[in-house]
Amino acid sequence: MTIARRTFLCTSGAALLTLSGPALASSTSRILGGAIAPSARRLKFENIHTGEKLAADYFVNGKYDPQALQAINHLLRDFRTGEVHAMDPRLMDLLADVNAGLETEAPFQVISGYRSPQTNAKLHERSSGVASKSLHMQGMAIDIRVPGRELTSLHSVAMKLGRGGVGMYPKSDFVHVDVGRVRHWAGV
Ligand SMILES: [Zn+2]
Repeated sequence: MTIARRTFLCTSGAALLTLSGPALASSTSRILGGAIAPSARRLKFENIHTGEKLAADYFVNGKYDPQALQAINHLLRDFRTGEVHAMDPRLMDLLADVNAGLETEAPFQVISGYRSPQTNAKLHERSSGVASKSLHMQGMAIDIRVPGRELTSLHSVAMKLGRGGVGMYPKSDFVHVDVGRVRHWAGV
C-alpha cells in the first residue's frame, strides 16, 4: 500500500512537470529575474519652495541611474538662483536608508538642497545657523522633514546611521543631514 502510494505521487509529480513544463519555466525565470536583480532604490521629494514633486528610482540593477539623478539634481537646485549642481549619490543612499529606518514611503519635504556660494553667503549673513563653508555648496547636504513622522524620529534614525553630519532644527522644523564627517549639533 505504501509503495503504491509513493509510486502514484511520483508519477503525478512527473506528469505535472511534463505538462506544465514550458509555462512553469517561463514564469519561474520571470520570478527569479525579479529576485536576482537588486530592487530599485526609490526616493520621493517635495520641494517646499517650488512645489515640485518627484519620485525617482535612482539606483536600478546595481547602478546609479544618471537620468534619475539628474531629475533629483534639478529638484534640489538652488531655487533662489536656479543653479543646478550634482548632488552626491551617497546622500541619496543615506536618504534611502533614512526612509527604511522610518518605515515610510512618504516624500522628503525639502527645505534646502544645493546652495550656490552666493546664496549661502547671504544666508550666512542673516543666520548664525548657516555655516560659511556649508556642505550644501558641494551637493553633500540636505535639510528635510518627513510628513507623518516626528522630527525626533527622523533625527534619531539619522543619528543611528552615523554616516555624516546631523543637525536638529526643532523651531525651523527640519533635520540637516550630510555625507561629510560624522558630527552632530543642535540649531534653532
Ligand atoms: Zn543644512
